[in-house]
Amino acid sequence: MKNSRIHIPQPRSSFISIQCQECGTSRVVFSASSLKINCEKCNAILVENTGGTAKIHGTNTSRVD
Ligand SMILES: [Zn+2]
Repeated sequence: MKNSRIHIPQPRSSFISIQCQECGTSRVVFSASSLKINCEKCNAILVENTGGTAKIHGTNTSRVD
């Protein structure tokens, strides 16, 4: 019997953590989001969609698995 490995495909997009430049509040957002995402605390723009590409304004961006 052949030993087969199950391959789990990696999703093209993931959740990312973005820290607000203004107040430092971290927020987890979907990286492929087509929406404009504002900071919950100070309402600064964290993610903005510019023609299909998400532009990230925050700092300390990291992937969340
Ligand atoms: Zn903020």
